[in-house]
Amino acid sequence: MGNKIGQDVIVEDKSVAKVCKKCGDPLRSKSKHKYCENCRRQRAKTRREILGTVGAFGLTVASLVPGIKHFTKK
Ligand SMILES: [Zn+2]
Repeated sequence: MGNKIGQDVIVEDKSVAKVCKKCGDPLRSKSKHKYCENCRRQRAKTRREILGTVGAFGLTVASLVPGIKHFTKK
C-alpha cells in the first residue's frame, strides 16, 4: 500500500539524473562532475581569479619577508 508507493519514489529518485549542486540543473548522465558545465566554468574562472590575487599577495609577502628577517636580526 503506502509502503509500495514509498519504494517507487525511492527507485525513481535513484534513477533521476544527477543535478548540479549549485544551480540544480540536470546533469548529463554518467557525468563525474557535481556541477553543470556552466557552474564549472564559473568556478574555474573564480579559482583563476583567486589564484591571481593570492599570487600577487604572496609576491608582496615574499618581498617583505627578507626585510622582516633583517629587522629581527638586528
Ligand atoms: Zn550549475
